[in-house]
Amino acid sequence: MSAQTSKKEKVDLIVSGGTVVTMDGTRTVYDDGAVAVKGDSIVAVAPRIEIDAKYAAVQVVDAKGKLVLPGFINGHTHVPMTLLRGLHDDVTLDEWLRKYIFPAEAKNVTEEFVRWGTRLAAAEQIRGGVTTFADMYYFEDAVAEETKAAGMRGVLGETFIDFPAPDNKTNAVALDYTEKFLKRWQGDPLIHAAAAPHSIYTCSKKTLQDAAALARKYNAPILIHVAEMKKELDDSRAQNGTTPVQYLDKIGVLGPDVVAAHCIFVDETDRQLLAQKQTGCVHNPSSNMMLASGVSPVPELRAAGVAVGLGTDGPAGSNNDLDLMEEMDLAAKLQKITKMDPRALGAQSVVEMATIEGAKALHMEKEIGSLETGKKADIILIGLDAPNAVPMYDIYAQLAYALKGSDVQTVVIGGRIVLRDHKLLTVDEPAAIAKAREYKTKVAASLGMEK
Ligand SMILES: [Zn+2]
Repeated sequence: MSAQTSKKEKVDLIVSGGTVVTMDGTRTVYDDGAVAVKGDSIVAVAPRIEIDAKYAAVQVVDAKGKLVLPGFINGHTHVPMTLLRGLHDDVTLDEWLRKYIFPAEAKNVTEEFVRWGTRLAAAEQIRGGVTTFADMYYFEDAVAEETKAAGMRGVLGETFIDFPAPDNKTNAVALDYTEKFLKRWQGDPLIHAAAAPHSIYTCSKKTLQDAAALARKYNAPILIHVAEMKKELDDSRAQNGTTPVQYLDKIGVLGPDVVAAHCIFVDETDRQLLAQKQTGCVHNPSSNMMLASGVSPVPELRAAGVAVGLGTDGPAGSNNDLDLMEEMDLAAKLQKITKMDPRALGAQSVVEMATIEGAKALHMEKEIGSLETGKKADIILIGLDAPNAVPMYDIYAQLAYALKGSDVQTVVIGGRIVLRDHKLLTVDEPAAIAKAREYKTKVAASLGMEK
């Protein structure tokens, strides 16, 4: 080693070369940039020549000719439901829930089911460049263990619902389970344990308030579906005399620790209230279209100052995949067609929603969402050599409208390489795929379906 090299600061990893799209405050892009990583965090983002002069790395990832971005953030999903993907689509939400999903969950959802579903979802999400996801399901402690094992970052909420769930049969048991869950994961670098009261239409006022109070005792986030159906709005007006958003505020649940999925039926007063309370919103265009729920006023929410992220929802019945790049494309196009104006929501805005705005919606913008010194090293490399990737006139347009999840080549989460040149390093993917097929036979038989 030369004298000059030894003077350089030692780091663990350098992602070197390529077009670094930082998503920082001024949306800096380095045409030939580099990212230096120490432990699980970024120590520097700069032109490659500057990084090369200052740092020496144990490991170098060559990003020449690729796009380098902060990892994508899937702000709303139910990952174990990968195992129910495509169970029965093209029916109304009510029929789908009553005739298929609730019976299938009652007969099949166990801790083992949740583990395999989470492994499958981790493989799918990592391959598509998702490094952080927010989840609402049952046996969430097992979801957390599998998420950590896959090396992913998760905001994971144990569901509260006013009927016997597959794991906790009463709300008293759910509170007890969730308290242990929140305690166990405090301070974990990857897992943010959360409480997830399902919605105002499945939870009583007491259930909502109890779940929120428990989360707040541990400074944990609160995940909830909000204003996702016209019926929810109509019922809330009839029963609570106000909108879902204003009802949640009235009972003390709305706040800067809440992540509200959907926010479709939100009027101007609701939007101002969401902004004032610093509540995050997550838009799920595939789900809203597939279930014909309605169109969230995303440009109006953003204009009011609300942080709006993007989610896949699903993956069963309301999507059916976990491809966040598809959501970027659909989010933009859904606004354009709804408003009959191609300027309604643009490419850069939806890339922001998948990264830095998504981080704000999850209240994690100090930790993730951009490539900046001090943030977690969640970095993805996207190839630009496929036919659909050339030529590239505009980076954001390419990301939103041309590139696909399958163009993601390498993924780093918290400084650890979890996907290298399309090779998954942290999940036994063949085993997860085989298990998914086994569960299909089992679930179909439990519902008396053919084959
Ligand atoms: Zn959902």
